[in-house]
Amino acid sequence: MHIILFGPPGVGKGTQAKLLEEKYNIPHVSTGDILRGEIKEQTELGLKAKAIMDSGNLVPDDIMVQMIRNILTSAKCKTGILLDGFPRTVAQAEALQKMLTELKITLDRVINIEVTEEHITERLLKRAAETHRTDDTPEVIKNRLQVYKQNTAPVKNFYEKFGILHTVSGEGTIDEVFNRMTSEFK
Ligand code: AMP
Repeated sequence: MHIILFGPPGVGKGTQAKLLEEKYNIPHVSTGDILRGEIKEQTELGLKAKAIMDSGNLVPDDIMVQMIRNILTSAKCKTGILLDGFPRTVAQAEALQKMLTELKITLDRVINIEVTEEHITERLLKRAAETHRTDDTPEVIKNRLQVYKQNTAPVKNFYEKFGILHTVSGEGTIDEVFNRMTSEFK
């Protein structure tokens, strides 16, 4: 199964993805986690991405598309993927579509998680206190939400046209959201 988990930063995609990975045995791939790993390892990509991520902006499309190509053709993702954090622009979505056609992969669905903006800010500030992520400061959070609205939210229309966009409320407890998510897997 090939699934995209979509939604603004702080909506709970990562938490839900980990639970879904466990239940359905589909590998969870988070582009944000991969980039943070590259920063930690101080690779060329990590060094390039750090300042961009710390400001809450997006890493260039060509870099991200190449990263996804490598992942989709890896042994780990032979039978499926739970993609979290990609695509984040319409250009990335178009490139992904082209790639999937080439690789003869069908995207099963895009699950869009939505919560109110106040809840997102609240959750991101709480996560900042817990994880010390350098892009969870109030200033950067504001920019990330702006970038989401401007560049990422339009991706929803892209998938709506394909008829594979399913929207789920991210309000409530982790279990409540998880139950809503699993009903989208039936
Ligand atoms: P995340 O952990 O998904 O919130 O991602 C953290 C940061 O990584 C984002 O704010 C971006 O700077 C960068 N990033 C992750 N995925 C992408 C993507 N698909 N396109 C561009 N930048 C990305």
